[in-house]
Amino acid sequence: MAPIIPKTVGESLYWSYANLAMAFTGGRHNEPTYQQIDFIVRNKLYCGLVRGSLNVKNFIIDEKEKLDASDACCYCGSRSNLSLDHLIPQLKGGRHSADNLVVACRSCNSSKKALDLMEWMAKKKQFPPLRLLRRYLKLAIQYCVENDLMDILLNPDEPTEPKQLTLFDDVEAGIRLEHADRALTFFPFAIALIPHRFPDPENVVDRVPSADQE
Ligand SMILES: [Zn+2]
Repeated sequence: MAPIIPKTVGESLYWSYANLAMAFTGGRHNEPTYQQIDFIVRNKLYCGLVRGSLNVKNFIIDEKEKLDASDACCYCGSRSNLSLDHLIPQLKGGRHSADNLVVACRSCNSSKKALDLMEWMAKKKQFPPLRLLRRYLKLAIQYCVENDLMDILLNPDEPTEPKQLTLFDDVEAGIRLEHADRALTFFPFAIALIPHRFPDPENVVDRVPSADQE
């Protein structure tokens, strides 16, 4: 299966999540590029997610890793001035829940401000650490499933039923997506920045950096 061009919000999120799984498996063997087995993992997961025979995993592994690395900033590895950061900012509609909270130092917190993970990474011209992206995609998928946003078409040139969405009408900072009917849908995360192309295994960061490694 060649790389696909997602047509809906759901396809975009699932394709990114499947590529993320490929990036994790690709990082486990010492090859600079992805191997056939990695592409098989990606393609099987994507097809399963789209068909509904496979599900996105819950947050148990993310929470366990957060506990294991609770003494370091998840972004830079610093061990001083730690607090909690909303991966998806509350100002944009992110929840004040454990799933959305990560450990961050004061410096990263003030640099990130009200940006969400992908906006902040785009500003820094960095690809996000895989484990943070995994939590982010799970939050995004959970949100879109709960709010019936998965079928929104991404291509603004294709006609579709107008969707009346009142979500976040009162949140100016919500991330807008202009979609097929030229209406605006508000997402609490950066739908336009969901990554579909992942760096080669040698260039991805798949673990929380520790201060020792800096
Ligand atoms: Zn930091």
